Amino acid sequence: DTSVSPSPPAVRVRPLTCSETRRGDRRVVHSLGDGTVHVSAARHDATFGFSAVFDAGASQEAVFEGSGMRQLVELAIDGFSCTVFAFGQTGSGKTYTLMGPLTQSETRPAAPGLLGLMQRSFACLLEQSRSRGSDLALSASYLEIYNEQVRDLLSPGPPCALPLRWSKTRGFYVENQLSVDFESLEAIADLLLQGSQRRRTSAHALNRHSSRSHALLTIHVRSRAMRGARVSHTPLTWIPQPSACPSKQGTLCFVDLAGSERVKETGSSGELSVEANNINRSLLALGHCISLLAKPQGKRTHIPYRDSKLTRLLARSLGGSGITLMVACVSPSSRCLSETLSTLHYASRARRVTTRP
Ligand code: ADP
Ligand code: MG
Repeated sequence: DTSVSPSPPAVRVRPLTCSETRRGDRRVVHSLGDGTVHVSAARHDATFGFSAVFDAGASQEAVFEGSGMRQLVELAIDGFSCTVFAFGQTGSGKTYTLMGPLTQSETRPAAPGLLGLMQRSFACLLEQSRSRGSDLALSASYLEIYNEQVRDLLSPGPPCALPLRWSKTRGFYVENQLSVDFESLEAIADLLLQGSQRRRTSAHALNRHSSRSHALLTIHVRSRAMRGARVSHTPLTWIPQPSACPSKQGTLCFVDLAGSERVKETGSSGELSVEANNINRSLLALGHCISLLAKPQGKRTHIPYRDSKLTRLLARSLGGSGITLMVACVSPSSRCLSETLSTLHYASRARRVTTRP
């Protein structure tokens, strides 16, 4: 039995923002540097343990190195399905962790030190690709789930819904999704930017919030098989051998989950409340799958991946043959206390999930 739980959740506590400091929010979340997170407020006092905890002072580099992200990139090259997802309430630092700060002028790139897990992973992948000669072929697809519709963020024109299908061999997959080859850091950074802008504009057209959709960027890593070994030096007797190193196909998927707000807190109504309900429903479905997966193997019942598009798309990485790194993002502010506690409880539950990569 090769069940493992290779990447337990990492937790990142962001610093108080300027506006939180200005309005006098207190810091109620602390880490003592020993893998524990303390939440202490008037009526709450709780301690959680995780394998990796990053406090307000942690750099983007420290998160990349300390979360196991580099190993995840290497596993994808070795042919595994790898997924990293950031979750937590809106404003908790998910996008910052994955992509770095998004400034007003999105065309101006962030300072190199502030680049997120995604750009660092791309650099790592391309470095590996270069050092292995040209036997790694890389391509990217970028999808969002908005109001339970799957949309392609790389195809030109206004986003249109794509069907999500299931087959015995492939599991759940998105029909007709675009996959774009890339060979340089600039090219993949450009795809990420294009897709993110498309996601943003479609969100802005409907409301002022960003991140009202779940976004999934997948890098497909194909290592080309070594050509048939020559068994003789005379071309006529050249026999293609089954290659000693079969071709492998791994994936590295980055998931930026939409925030989990309560509908009544955001005062949403009409279209916004439909949107918030869809987000909550899919996050609930995800939480439900995770808590069922966390049960001991023998006690597991049917896992309801079909309950949402999000869980269908994540089915393989969550329960099947994938390796998942989760980064729980929390705000240290006293005003976010209840959301912070619920994120930490969610992360604790996810700690017990095992997969068979
Ligand atoms: P989310 O994607 O979860 O809604 P963001 O990533 O957009 O949240 O972060 C909200 C705000 O906090 C942004 O202004 C972001 O730049 C800032 N922020 C988040 N994490 C950090 C961090 N670790 N260090 C400094 N600023 C951060
Ligand atoms: Mg975001």
